[in-house]
Amino acid sequence: MGILSLLFPCKCPYCSAVIKRKMTECDKCRPKIIAKKIIYKIPSNDICIAPFRYDGRVRNAILEFKFNGVRFNAKSLSERMTEILREYVGSFDIVTCVPVSKQRMRERGFNQSKDLAKGIALLLGKSCCDTLKKTKNNKVQHMLDKSQRQENVIGVYSAINTDKFIGKRILLVDDICTTGNTLAECCRVLYAAGAAFVLCAAIAVSYE
Ligand SMILES: [Zn+2]
Repeated sequence: MGILSLLFPCKCPYCSAVIKRKMTECDKCRPKIIAKKIIYKIPSNDICIAPFRYDGRVRNAILEFKFNGVRFNAKSLSERMTEILREYVGSFDIVTCVPVSKQRMRERGFNQSKDLAKGIALLLGKSCCDTLKKTKNNKVQHMLDKSQRQENVIGVYSAINTDKFIGKRILLVDDICTTGNTLAECCRVLYAAGAAFVLCAAIAVSYE
């Protein structure tokens, strides 16, 4: 075992068992963590596809990834997302992600959705680029009620790199889809900026 593996052992995203660096999850969890396609209609009438519901071991893997900086978990999670996205591979040209604010980027050091988008793009042989930026620091969505969530995301995002996506079909990646208001607003901005089609994908759908 190398020194790096001793200092920073890789752990299974779903049960925290120590695993080899080249593995993405342990042998026990692999057959249990099954990607099952969930199709979720978001408020803009666009579609979000996810492999999981937001609970149990998947929820833990996402929380560790998003809030404790365990970016290793993105590997397994993006693989599972890719499994259910393969049948849609002909429906989009580029992969992009929901952006985080500058402040969040400073605090967290990475955008979890971008890690997933990059993983998916790599596995599906697509290019990944930023198409949106967050221009306002809005409140965290999960702290708000339903009607507040809808208002909270309006005017928060703006399009960037429009030359890369005008007339193109986009796969828009987020981490968790709850009310779908964030994705719906991002879709609206992308369509307004010239996207031909937007398909959304998340790791998990949370029914609150
Ligand atoms: Zn495991």
